[in-house]
Amino acid sequence: MEPLPEPKRLVLIGATGSIGQSTLEVIRANRSSLELVGIAAHSNADQLDAIATEFGVRHQSLYARDGLQGLIDLATLDEADVVLIAAVGTVGLRPALAAMEAGKDVALASKEILVLAGEYVMAEAKRHNCRVLPIDSEHNAIFQCLEGCPQPKHVRRLILTASGGSFRNWTTEQMAAIQPADALKHPNWSMGPKITVDSSTMANKGLEMIEARWLFDVAPGQIDVVIHPQSIVHSMVEYVDGSILAQLSPPSMTFAIQHALLHPDRAPGVTQSLDFTQALQLDFLPPDAGRFPCLRLAREAMVRGGAAPGIFNAANEVAVAAFLAERLAFLDIPHVVEETLQTVDPEVGESLDDLLEIEAEARHRARAITARFAQAKRCSSRNLS
Ligand code: MG
Repeated sequence: MEPLPEPKRLVLIGATGSIGQSTLEVIRANRSSLELVGIAAHSNADQLDAIATEFGVRHQSLYARDGLQGLIDLATLDEADVVLIAAVGTVGLRPALAAMEAGKDVALASKEILVLAGEYVMAEAKRHNCRVLPIDSEHNAIFQCLEGCPQPKHVRRLILTASGGSFRNWTTEQMAAIQPADALKHPNWSMGPKITVDSSTMANKGLEMIEARWLFDVAPGQIDVVIHPQSIVHSMVEYVDGSILAQLSPPSMTFAIQHALLHPDRAPGVTQSLDFTQALQLDFLPPDAGRFPCLRLAREAMVRGGAAPGIFNAANEVAVAAFLAERLAFLDIPHVVEETLQTVDPEVGESLDDLLEIEAEARHRARAITARFAQAKRCSSRNLS
């Protein structure tokens, strides 16, 4: 009898978040092929302890207590094979790079890392001969559609699908009154608050275009976005002969996570797949860049390159946090992003330290710009009451 292959040993950074929880579901169903050896969360110690107990995890770290070094120690654990990074924002950048240097594969859910420093991160992965496995559902779909395509010259374009978020059919007038509670209801996906708001402004799709550019090493002009309200087709690849390949599954992150973690192996999924005994309708529409300016701003930042995508991301993070705190109007999110992009010079340098420095400056500027918009919002709401 052939001996069973050793399980892949996994470190999960962001264990208590939405992606973390879906990852645990995948591990529960694949105990013989996946073993959890390290976990980290932002600050929920009780939940982290519960996960450690359930999965017999020996190493854990709380970001709020141990800082970045705690994450780096986990990412470079001797016994780890794969490090899954699902922390909010760019906090996972240094841990991801440390994992690569230590020869681990990196499964990436935190798209902001590639938005900020995609060229650098992918070059590091190549240098250390590590795989970067996409966890984002669109990118995992493209990854699957590219399997069996050894020749990049055969790819014409990547087509990212977007649900269009909660306000796909809203008029600009309706959108002016959007409150955080409205933006936190996503029609198809259950996700964390930041990404749910990003989905409703379509900034998320903008970030994903930039993520795709680096993950798959394509030119900005080779990435398109199409609205697909059902979130069943997770993305597509068009080949030069005009054939388009798509990946379909219900909107659950378990499909992408399991594919990435078991790759190149496959196993029965933990979520029911599509049921074609029922009628199933799939719609595709062009995006409305007029009502969703974040998409245009992201594309411009992607084309401009350098630190521009990192500036886009930093300004968006600041603006979304202010919107969630009810200090900024929904429609002012793109205004903050656009003004920050106009005032911070993205071409100062291209080393990682330069990128991080410009990103910090962008946050600083975005906060000042947000404060100005917040002041205007307070004045207008006072006039209304
Ligand atoms: Mg996505």
